[in-house]
Amino acid sequence: MSSAGGAGLYLHVPFCSAICPYCDFAVVADNESRSQRYVSALVAELALLGEEELVFDTIYLGGGTPSALSGQQLGTILSAARQELSIEEGAWLAMEVNPEDVDPAALAEWRGLGVNMLSLGVQSFQEEELRFLGRRHSPADAERAVRAAVAAGFDIISVDLIFGLPGQQPGQLRDSIRKLAALDPQHVSCYQLTVHEGTPFHRRSLQGSLRELEESSQGELFELVHSELATAGYPAYEVSNFAKTEAFRSRHNQKYWDHSPYLGAGLAAHSFSGRRRWWNEADFEKYCARVEQGERPLAGSEELDDAQLALEAVMLGLRCAAGLDLERLRAKYGVNLLELNAALIEGYVEDGVAEADGRLRLTPRGLAVADAVVRSLDLGFD
Ligand code: SF4
Repeated sequence: MSSAGGAGLYLHVPFCSAICPYCDFAVVADNESRSQRYVSALVAELALLGEEELVFDTIYLGGGTPSALSGQQLGTILSAARQELSIEEGAWLAMEVNPEDVDPAALAEWRGLGVNMLSLGVQSFQEEELRFLGRRHSPADAERAVRAAVAAGFDIISVDLIFGLPGQQPGQLRDSIRKLAALDPQHVSCYQLTVHEGTPFHRRSLQGSLRELEESSQGELFELVHSELATAGYPAYEVSNFAKTEAFRSRHNQKYWDHSPYLGAGLAAHSFSGRRRWWNEADFEKYCARVEQGERPLAGSEELDDAQLALEAVMLGLRCAAGLDLERLRAKYGVNLLELNAALIEGYVEDGVAEADGRLRLTPRGLAVADAVVRSLDLGFD
């Protein structure tokens, strides 16, 4: 699916009622005065972005937990974005929510804001897994929330799962996937648990009280996710994303995978356009203070050269089920991937890891080792 050329707008809401022990996103614990200050800061930052020349056709409210803000606060942020930036009429709007925030009144408010895709951070339907992950909802809460969201009439309901927990058995994961499929959302995102540096899980892993799942078990669970979801009617369109049909894919995330321009506003938000990537302050106090002084809260930027852009294009393209457009890669960056890696790619095809025609596509087996495949390819840069 193409992102149709428009840019994506990402709006970060950093609040969470408690911080999960595996989380490495820019998050802060919820609190009334902080959230008021942040909404004002985000609105002020949007006013400073007026000179950006991008035209947006998708908006993504991510976090953190956007549902930690009231409908009124979210409405204030969206109105400011629409006033300050060139946002197409009817731009596609997605929002992340936590199951414990889903109730009929909240669903009605989010519908009223024009949300098309609601993404629920369920993560598991197993009681002990949810407790291990530090989540605040139970499997019953998650089921209730998904059922209510599906019935509320959004274009797309998406459910997030995490797999690869220490000691996770295939049967537990299969059970979660089947419970999820029975609730009939249109879209699923399924991510492997990663132990990030600086998180409580990382400290526990260093102390030896948390043992990550072995690579072979991770691979087995990865294949199980893909086969169970495909059987349930959710084929993968990206390594971690599954949709019933093309119409139910994430239009905003497609921009990241296509290298389309996107603008991020809010704490630690990242932006990309052309060759340039830039990002905001990740410290709450610094972010707010800089914006309050009328300054853009930039923390850094980089200019990418052809080698970096080509590597990203290969990485992102191979993670999508549609694969990498080889002619586009050659035209944009002068990289003839097939010629540079003839024997290697032939081997991948023979081993059932990849398929090559006008595109280079990884099979489900190949997707499980996508990063290693990318590392093995020669792009012809020094
Ligand atoms: S709910 Fe999500 S964003 Fe918030 S702490 Fe947990 S993992 Fe992080």
